[in-house]
Amino acid sequence: MPHTDQNEVLFERARAVIPGGVNSPVRAFRAVGGTPRFVKRAQGAYFWDAADKRYIDYIGSWGPMILGHGHPAVVEAVQRAVVDGFSFGAPTEREIELAEAILALVSSMEMVRLVSSGTEAAMSALRLARGATGRKYIIKFEGCYHGHADALLVKAGSGLATFGNPTSAGVPPEVVQHTLVLEYNNIAQLEEAFALHGHEIACLVIEAIAGNMNFVRASAEFAGRCRELCTQNGALLVFDEVMTGFRVGARGAQGVLGITPDLTVLGKVIGGGMPLAAFGGPRAIMEQLAPLGPVYQAGTLSGNPVATACGLATLKEVSKPGFYDALSKKTRTLVDGLKAAAAAEGVPFSADSEGGMFGFFLLDALPQNYTAVMKSDGTKFNTLFHGLLDRGVYIAPALYEAGFVSAAHSDDDIAATIDAARQIFATL
Ligand SMILES: *Cc1c(COP(=O)(O)O)cnc(C)c1O
Repeated sequence: MPHTDQNEVLFERARAVIPGGVNSPVRAFRAVGGTPRFVKRAQGAYFWDAADKRYIDYIGSWGPMILGHGHPAVVEAVQRAVVDGFSFGAPTEREIELAEAILALVSSMEMVRLVSSGTEAAMSALRLARGATGRKYIIKFEGCYHGHADALLVKAGSGLATFGNPTSAGVPPEVVQHTLVLEYNNIAQLEEAFALHGHEIACLVIEAIAGNMNFVRASAEFAGRCRELCTQNGALLVFDEVMTGFRVGARGAQGVLGITPDLTVLGKVIGGGMPLAAFGGPRAIMEQLAPLGPVYQAGTLSGNPVATACGLATLKEVSKPGFYDALSKKTRTLVDGLKAAAAAEGVPFSADSEGGMFGFFLLDALPQNYTAVMKSDGTKFNTLFHGLLDRGVYIAPALYEAGFVSAAHSDDDIAATIDAARQIFATL
């Protein structure tokens, strides 16, 4: 297959100078095997690899590209911003505009601070929660990802209310000894953790619609119990909406669930493809941050003028009436079509979506936690992944990742995707 040749050449070159040939691990195709596709350019719902093969793109830079690639209004805003300067290290009016735009849409936030990556935003929100409460312990859930800051890079041990073991080398156990890792959607475990440690817990951080163990919703009961227990125990409820913010709807997962968190972490869509993220919440908590308060947080490129232009232009488009209705409908059509195709071929399959985010499993029923997600059939997934790739459809190269539809995906793109999947299901 000559179309992989140029990608192979680049991969070879990349591996000589960049660990694994990639600057973020999942791009390396380690889970599915084969050669990563090096992207040359992208437009609308498509990107082209180094061999000029076109793919319908269902990763959208892992979430940010909700308008598709190269949206004219966003490109124009970025081009105009670049001419005025790349970075100043002094405040700009555009930062205020973006802050105002975010706060106007996410009503749980009264103030927001802009940073450059989701990792940085989650890490800073955690420090703020600890600083504001004067407490050490945090709760996170197995399968939820909150960036790669030390204290958050923990998987669960088995058993009840297990304190975390580091997931990565280079994280001393002492650094995660205050991170309590619980099973997602497990109310009994949550109640026990609060019964044991409630007065010491600074915050509970959660992806309320989880997108880093494929796509798993927190049940309404579970999310509601998180809110209640945090309130009763004086802990802050932190919604990590880096993926779900402006992706599952205009008000994120908190809007879908009807729950008001104390702190919200945003990223991905709010930068429209440029490095930009944010965290925010009530004024009294946010004013604990430097320069007003004792919690230190800073960034040379924070609120970058080009990134904020990109984010603002993106938010302007998604704020137009009917945007999320149309996107949800499109994503639903994809998910329903895939389900019907799998059913027709007798392949165990379940799928779900919200707004422009979806997930599917080679399982009969939707999983409710990480352990259940991991039972999805990896071998069948790899066949599906490579079959789709050959047919010009690019989904996430690992079965524990969510997928993303953009406003630029056409009905024909969706139909072609379902058709390609049907051909592969027939062989499974
Ligand atoms: C992507 C993601 C992050 C990390 O964001 P980066 O910009 O990659 O550092 C944190 N939390 C969630 C829920 C994410 O999906």
